[in-house]
Amino acid sequence: MPLDVPGAQHLHSGKVRDLYELEGGELLMVASDRISAFDFVLSPGIPDKGEILTRMSLWWFDQLLDIVPNHVISTQVPERVRGRALVCEKLEMFPVECVVRGYLTGSGLADYRATGEVCGVALPEGLVDGSRLPEPIFTPATKADLGEHDENVSFEAIVETIGREAAEDVRTLTLEVYARAESVARARGIVLADTKLEFGRRPDGTIVLADEVLTPDSSRFWPADTWEPGRAQASYDKQYVRDWLVSPESGWDRASDTPPPDLPAEVVEVTRERYVQAYEQLTGERF
Ligand code: ATP
Ligand code: MG
Repeated sequence: MPLDVPGAQHLHSGKVRDLYELEGGELLMVASDRISAFDFVLSPGIPDKGEILTRMSLWWFDQLLDIVPNHVISTQVPERVRGRALVCEKLEMFPVECVVRGYLTGSGLADYRATGEVCGVALPEGLVDGSRLPEPIFTPATKADLGEHDENVSFEAIVETIGREAAEDVRTLTLEVYARAESVARARGIVLADTKLEFGRRPDGTIVLADEVLTPDSSRFWPADTWEPGRAQASYDKQYVRDWLVSPESGWDRASDTPPPDLPAEVVEVTRERYVQAYEQLTGERF
């Protein structure tokens, strides 16, 4: 599945991205056009998605430079992956998904309904799907093995895994990144409901923001003008694909164990437009 990239050795492929090591020991992170929904990688891909998300990540890294250093070394990459790959520092990653939520939905909502808490953080009564939280909360998750779902855990569980100092540092940074990104997105009519960050450490101990940042694959973006707590919110990107998959039109039964059918050309085209729109609305740049 991953491309042959001259001068790069393939290390790992996730659902969407392929990771290589370059001769100098740096990482080459390649965002493919693959799209996943309901934990399946769909077919076909969405043209330009990898490039759109790479540019979005880069744009965010720049917005966050005064808060935290990031792992990007260069955008000069082998011709085969031009535009959708970054050369990055290879870091010692913290095995923690640093999730921050400003709004309640998804697994956070499910936990809240069951226990009144999310990751050990008690929340007021009466919150519904899409509610804005009194303040953003850090709700870490452990990284699941392939095919498993990430598991929400308490802050103390993270302390056990990476030590108190590092846990406090990544919590502080995660909340700072969210506060900045939320206000940037809000000024452009986008609600940043939640996001997932990953941090790593340089050999000298510096904590560095890694992975992809604040893309529709790692975050929930909602159009601010239609936000209304009490129901599932419209979203910019995958919602359209998810809606099609579960509609009678697709002929797919989500409860069955069968993979979803191929996406029709029209669904691919509309989805591509959604990604382009998200990019342009956020950055104010043309794709
Ligand atoms: P999924 O498809 O569920 O996301 P995945 O997390 O295994 O699966 P990717 O997200 O594509 O797949 O993989 C990227 C991997 O690279 C992650 O394990 C991430 O922690 C790691 N990573 C990101 N940045 C760096 C870095 N600077 N140094 C080392 N590893 C990194
Ligand atoms: Mg990942």
